[in-house]
Amino acid sequence: MVSKEQILQWLQAFAREIAQNKAYLTELDAAIGDADHGINMDRGFQKVVSQLPTVADKDIGSILKAVSMTLISSVGGASGPLYGTWFLRASTDVAHKQELNEQDLLVLLQAGLNGVLQRGKAQLGDKTMVDVLSPAVTAFAQAVGEGGDTVTALQQAVAAAEQALQVTIPMLAKKGRASYLGERSIGHQDPGATSAYLMLKCLLTVLQ
Ligand code: ADP
Ligand code: MG
Ligand code: MG
Repeated sequence: MVSKEQILQWLQAFAREIAQNKAYLTELDAAIGDADHGINMDRGFQKVVSQLPTVADKDIGSILKAVSMTLISSVGGASGPLYGTWFLRASTDVAHKQELNEQDLLVLLQAGLNGVLQRGKAQLGDKTMVDVLSPAVTAFAQAVGEGGDTVTALQQAVAAAEQALQVTIPMLAKKGRASYLGERSIGHQDPGATSAYLMLKCLLTVLQ
């Protein structure tokens, strides 16, 4: 089970993680983009944290929806709308809930991924955050299918995400700014895939 309190802790933990990795994410983006991914994400999640008290007494769906609105309005670039869409879609099916079981979390993760796929039109292998989010959902679904609880399923998802993150290094970017580089995008880890991995890792940390 994931409680509303844990969702709030997760958002705070992710904001801290982003702040700690701001330079690293920006460095990754400097290699294949415009050197702002850490800056974009940090700006957005600092704003999220500052606004959390205003939604802390609401249900999980409302909290996630508020995160989405903050990200969409405060983060420019590709990642703002994409993470904004992830949180918006993640919020929809869990509206009014005060806690989530493993099925709810599966629905949330799947819906978030579907939103990013629809919005960004990236496919698996295009060297984007999809390359982490998608294998993570698959691993989570498989673990739940085998009777795993939330933590077990999330451990599988994070392990899959960590592996998948490394797999973005040899990929040729086909979406986003990195795609302008063509062959020169090969050999670098994708920044958005990195922040997506950190997001999942922080959720596991909070639940453990
Ligand atoms: P920008 O590229 O506009 O400066 P960021 O640097 O904040 O935005 O985010 C870049 C990340 O966004 C990439 O590393 C990639 O993971 C992700 N991204 C870019 N375009 C797409 C897309 N169409 N679908 C999914 N993710 C994308
Ligand atoms: Mg960038
Ligand atoms: Mg930019």
